[in-house]
Amino acid sequence: MSSALRLSHSGTRLAMLSRRASSVSPFVFQRLVACPLATLPINRRSLSSSYSSFANTTEYPKADPLKPIDYAAIEQKWLKRWKEGKETANKSAATHANNATLSTKSLTDQEREKFYILSMFPYPSGILHMGHVRVYTISDALARARRLMGYDVVHPMGWDAFGLPAENAAIERSIHPNEWTIKNIGIMKTQMEKILADFDWDRELRTCSPDYYRWTQFLFLKLHEAGLAYQKEALVNWDPVDETVLANEQVDSEGKSWRSGALVEKKKLRQWFFKITEYAEDLLQDLDRLQHWPDRVKQMQRNWIGKSKGAEFDFNVQGGSSAIHVFTSRPDTLYGVQFLAVSTEHPVLNQVPESHQHKLEEFKESLKRVTPADQESGPEGVHTGLFADHPLLPGTKLPVFAVNYVVSDYGTGAVMGVPGHDERDFNFATTQGIEPKYVVTVPTSGTEATGQASSGALTGRGILTGDNGEFSGMSSEDAGNAIIDKASQLGFGREKTSFRIRDWLLSRQRYWGAPIPIIHCKGCGPVPVPAEDLPVELPIDVQFTGRGGSPLKQIEEWVSCSCPKCGGSAQRDTDTMDTFVDSSWYFMRYLDPHNTKLPFSPEKATRGMPVDVYIGGIEHAILHLLYSRFLSKFAWKTGLYGKSPEVEDREGKEPGRGEPFKVLLTQGMVQGRTFKDPTTGAFLHPSEVDLKDPQNPIQISTGLPPAQSYEKMSKSKYNGVDPESMIATHGADATRLHILYKAPPSEELEWDEQSIVGMQRFLAKVWRIVGHTATSAPSVVVDSTFKPSTADMNSEERELWRVVNSTVKELTVSFQSTYAFNTSISFLIKLTNQLATHVPPVAVSGVNPPSKKKNSKQVNISPDLYRYSTEALVKMLSPLAPAFGEECWEALRSESAPATATVSAMSSEDSVRALTPSVPSSVFNSSWPTYDEEAMKEDKIVCGIQVNGKSRFNVEFDVADLPQEKAAQEQYLKDLAYQHEKASRWLKDDQGLVKAVKKLIVVKGGKNVNFVL
Ligand SMILES: [Zn+2]
Repeated sequence: MSSALRLSHSGTRLAMLSRRASSVSPFVFQRLVACPLATLPINRRSLSSSYSSFANTTEYPKADPLKPIDYAAIEQKWLKRWKEGKETANKSAATHANNATLSTKSLTDQEREKFYILSMFPYPSGILHMGHVRVYTISDALARARRLMGYDVVHPMGWDAFGLPAENAAIERSIHPNEWTIKNIGIMKTQMEKILADFDWDRELRTCSPDYYRWTQFLFLKLHEAGLAYQKEALVNWDPVDETVLANEQVDSEGKSWRSGALVEKKKLRQWFFKITEYAEDLLQDLDRLQHWPDRVKQMQRNWIGKSKGAEFDFNVQGGSSAIHVFTSRPDTLYGVQFLAVSTEHPVLNQVPESHQHKLEEFKESLKRVTPADQESGPEGVHTGLFADHPLLPGTKLPVFAVNYVVSDYGTGAVMGVPGHDERDFNFATTQGIEPKYVVTVPTSGTEATGQASSGALTGRGILTGDNGEFSGMSSEDAGNAIIDKASQLGFGREKTSFRIRDWLLSRQRYWGAPIPIIHCKGCGPVPVPAEDLPVELPIDVQFTGRGGSPLKQIEEWVSCSCPKCGGSAQRDTDTMDTFVDSSWYFMRYLDPHNTKLPFSPEKATRGMPVDVYIGGIEHAILHLLYSRFLSKFAWKTGLYGKSPEVEDREGKEPGRGEPFKVLLTQGMVQGRTFKDPTTGAFLHPSEVDLKDPQNPIQISTGLPPAQSYEKMSKSKYNGVDPESMIATHGADATRLHILYKAPPSEELEWDEQSIVGMQRFLAKVWRIVGHTATSAPSVVVDSTFKPSTADMNSEERELWRVVNSTVKELTVSFQSTYAFNTSISFLIKLTNQLATHVPPVAVSGVNPPSKKKNSKQVNISPDLYRYSTEALVKMLSPLAPAFGEECWEALRSESAPATATVSAMSSEDSVRALTPSVPSSVFNSSWPTYDEEAMKEDKIVCGIQVNGKSRFNVEFDVADLPQEKAAQEQYLKDLAYQHEKASRWLKDDQGLVKAVKKLIVVKGGKNVNFVL
């Protein structure tokens, strides 16, 4: 039964009334009609007293569709209303549910599918920039749309609150890191509210809070227990004046300490590592499961993990007892080895003859100086006086060099030098005057693809030259395998897989981080802090001098403790954890943020994971995402959450295997319009540019146009945009729309304030349509089941119905999978324009008299279809422009109806959802419109007839008349063309007979037909 028919009793009358009314002012009409509201079934279960009473006590000005919209006022109104609605719902949930914990109200609803949307949490710097605004707008729009679609949405926010800037602020400004952090969180929260982001604040977490880092420590201990957290020596940046360890960011571009100015040295310290290499294979293989991740991110991870198959060879040191082991991915170049290169930590250096020791020491000393990243030095090294034998070329002496480009904690700490076929080896050989030997001929065709390096090394694969003994003439691949076989037989080598990824160094010699929960006892060694003693809290009373190492080390009463094992006197580990540890599991804590027994309950995490859409910057493509995958996989493997692989496969779980993020959306940068002096290249401050004509800026000092570009926003380029002032000027809704409309999420957004006006015009038009709908037929009721019969429609109604349905489809697909919000907004604008043609222009003191023509159009659309279309438009627009959407919805739904009737007008499905924290009459408690593929089909097709590829004339036909079968379809289209008057000129000969058709090409269901004659 179509609801058009169901509503026929009141509907027909209303249609008549509205037709008549259209010639009078809508305002008069509103006074004239006061029809009873058609009541839909009420779901009594859901009509909790709390929100119906709330609805009656509202004190806000009701939406008035006849007044121009005041964006600032409606933002304030709805922010307040949402907040109160949440409080009411929370109270109601606490009273009605057995479990009064706030966080349990979501993720316990088994009827609705969960949907977890997450944007990467920010560091609380105290400033929200445009990049933040972009990412939170995207995630908020997605969350609101999914709520409308009926999902049990999780959309949390929190703070990546440990880290260096807070500690620096403490040293520089004498403000405690905790105080500084909390102050900044307050500021940023207010800013987030201003962009109308609707986060689950009851899930809010701060990584610096003991009730969070207690569980970070718990996970550390779990990893320790599993043998995945261990200590070894590693290099740190050492400030010899302040006697403290520095982060890379604290070393300036000249390799000097940011604070003391001393030349920073490399120093070895015993530090903590996570054995992420143990998971390398899983982390690599399971990238294939991440079907909704950008390929380039997956490729970056693959490269970082860097699996390479190759061989390990042993080279005997002449006159010594040991061998040097090397890994190579190119066993086919073994005959090209001309030297060996080892790290300065390699054990073979103990055998260096005295004659060479001094030089070696000097070299090692020179490496202690920290080289800034942007001045990376070339390969350097010294001869150690040692030589090794070539395993297949008896009598060949290979010199052994200690070099700066091989590191000790990576692989074997030694490589074989093949200058002919490796670029770095070539560069090093040049410094030593070694003439490269070529043992592989690389095909000349496509040398670029196979990679003839500019330096002179032939890095591609090819055919082995005659210098390769029994392997001469073989292809690189065959030779590689054959050489490995030979090495295995002779015992000097074996096949080996190597990974580029290294274990995760997580020790930080700093204060503002989670303390490592380990106690060092002279008798027992490192002993884990017992789980019941967690958290190991950071002492608050600390002196920040920036000198003498970690502040924790200097607090004697904190450091000394008793050993949990033997009870003897012991010392706490004074390192804190890398903040990447905090952010590698927060997405699991969000699912159960108030748990005091565990980091999260296995049930809640199993239901809530994976994150369905994760949104953040491409700069996190490697480390954060890799570490998060590691910890999530670890939690899954150790049973902290999730199901067995067998159950996962049976249930078709995607992506499964502890992968934390199903869809990854990497948003592009927001770039600012940047002006430069074309001659000096200096950045120009906005005050130096005359922007009266925004399209043609003028540099004031010269009177000439400045150089213009879009670049990453930064203070030094004077191209930053302050989100708060943007919102104050244009309104949050228009700003959000502008952000989403200007570029697809993954692309760079060139910020252009001028075009926000376009979004404001669009909203004003929607408001006019809403006003017309609300006042011209206030008591027409439609719901989500509305499906009129197209057979009863006139052509204009059919066209509107078609546009509505195709818009719903576009928006549905966009919110669910393509995230092409820019296209979505174009569709909404198109629908708005279509609806606007049916709105009689409002007569404003005679300036704008109603036009007859437009009125006649208006009467052709039935009021229920018009209302349905308007409501669908408002529902689809609401996730993107939420305060405006709410205001429109209120104007549409409660203009003449009492508040309780608004609740009753919701479908039963809607009423259930009203239990989620929101406002009962909110558009977000309505339901997402559905679409009908059939309705999208056009009635008539204008078919362009081409002759030999040239457009000649058009014919028109009813879609219903076009035969389905191919031959019949072609015949139908041919006949149609032949009947056209122009056919005699193009398709027929002088006698009026049709010319022979060599081929007929029918495109797009008959929209184009090409006659090849
Ligand atoms: Zn002990």
